[in-house]
Parts: sequence; C-alpha cells; structure tokens
Amino acid sequence: MDFARRKLFTKAGVVGATALATYSQSARADNAIQTPFKVAMTTIPIVGSNEVFPVRRIYCIGRNYEAHAREMGSDPTREPPFYFQKPTDAIQFVPIGQTVNHPYPALTKNYHHEIELVAALSKGGRNIPVEKALEYVYGYAIGLDMTRRDLQRAMGDQKKPWEIGKSFDSSAPIGPIHPVEKFGHIKQGSIWLKVNGAIKQEANLSQMIWSVAEQISQLSQAFELKPGDIIYSGTPENVGPVVAGDTMEGHIDGLPNISLKVV
Ligand code: MN
Repeated sequence: MDFARRKLFTKAGVVGATALATYSQSARADNAIQTPFKVAMTTIPIVGSNEVFPVRRIYCIGRNYEAHAREMGSDPTREPPFYFQKPTDAIQFVPIGQTVNHPYPALTKNYHHEIELVAALSKGGRNIPVEKALEYVYGYAIGLDMTRRDLQRAMGDQKKPWEIGKSFDSSAPIGPIHPVEKFGHIKQGSIWLKVNGAIKQEANLSQMIWSVAEQISQLSQAFELKPGDIIYSGTPENVGPVVAGDTMEGHIDGLPNISLKVV
C-alpha cells in the first residue's frame, strides 16, 4: 500500500514536473506553444525586404499639432502630452500604388480622417533619453488614425474612456515600413491629406509639439517599450468627416502616398 501510494505520488510528481518544464519552455519559445486555434500576428510589409515588421503595440499621441489642439478645445501651449492605444489588429495595410477599400465602421455618423507619421521601433527599453530615442526607430510609415468622432466626444463628455471612438476594427490604416537604414529619419517635410482630390489637412512635420524622439522618451517612462511597438505621432489641424464613396489620399514627404476608398 505504502509502496503503491509512493509510486503513484512519484509518477504524478514526474508528470507534473514534465508539464511544468514544457510550459516554461513554451513560454520562452513561441513556436513550441500548442494552441487550440490560431490567432493571426499583425505584420506590416517592409519596403525592399522579404521580411515583415511584427506589430506588438500601437501607441498614439493626442493633440500634437498646435492648431489641431486648438480645434479640439485644448490649450495649445506645451501641456503634457497624452497617449492612447489601439489594438494591434486595428491595422489595415495599404499597399503602395493601389486604392484599398476601407470599411465605414458601425455606430458612427461622424467618421474622421487623421493623417499621421508613424514611427516603428526595433528596440525597447524604459526611461529612454530623448537624445538616444531615435536609435530605437526601425523605420517610418504613413498612417491614418481613423476616429469615430461622435463616439469619442460623447465618451469624453461623460468622462468615460474613448476607446469606442478610437480603437475599433480597421481604425489604423498604414502603408509599408520604410527602414531608417535605407530612407533615413523623417523629422520635417509636408504632411497632407486629400479627400476626393481636395486638400483637407496640410502641415509640416516640424510643427509637431512633441517630436518623435520626445514621444519615445515620454512613452518609455510610462511603459516598457519593446521591439514591434509603433507610434502614431499625431495629426495636424482640419480633421474632418468622410462618408462612403470618398477617396482619401495621404502624403508625407519622403514616403509614397497611400490611397483608400471608404466603402
Ligand atoms: Mn490622432
């Protein structure tokens, strides 16, 4: 009896230890994890490469151009920046040279475009100094922080989280990543958005209140940044609505334009 119980206990102990070892190995090596179903990883094509950029988190800064801060009802002086996130699978990839269909989302009657420069990180860290911050940037892309403005405002008015206005499916269209190694850093130059061929938003990247380097530094004080994080760096003034049938064309100097048709 004692022998049988001891044997059983030993066996259970061995099984338990094996399961634990398997689990901790799997936690380190994603490829080894067995899952009951597959979840797609979000990736963005990289210009001039067969590799794709794996997206870990999407950070966005709010009100980062003075005139846009004013139109949103903020004091445009350098008040502390604020950030929000979108889910990684909000990405909608927009290939160059094509007009992709962009779905008009549910629930809104005031769907807004926000053209933005996106910085993609290949290194992570905490408390990154501003002077070192650009070393963490792998590349840049042109993106849209699409916004259900009516829902964002309604939630803000109620002092509730904005998520329903900002963090919905396909709310983060983006073009391919342009590596710094080949294309350099993008710190200034024209940024504009046209709707049906007419200029709606137009500014210079140098008008950002907080630079990309400052954004990385600030974010790294609140979060541990990691490779694969991308940052939507804010939109200029004259955000406005689009409706089904509208075509949006986005431009940033140094990057090819992106084009989307709202359907
Ligand atoms: Mn934005």
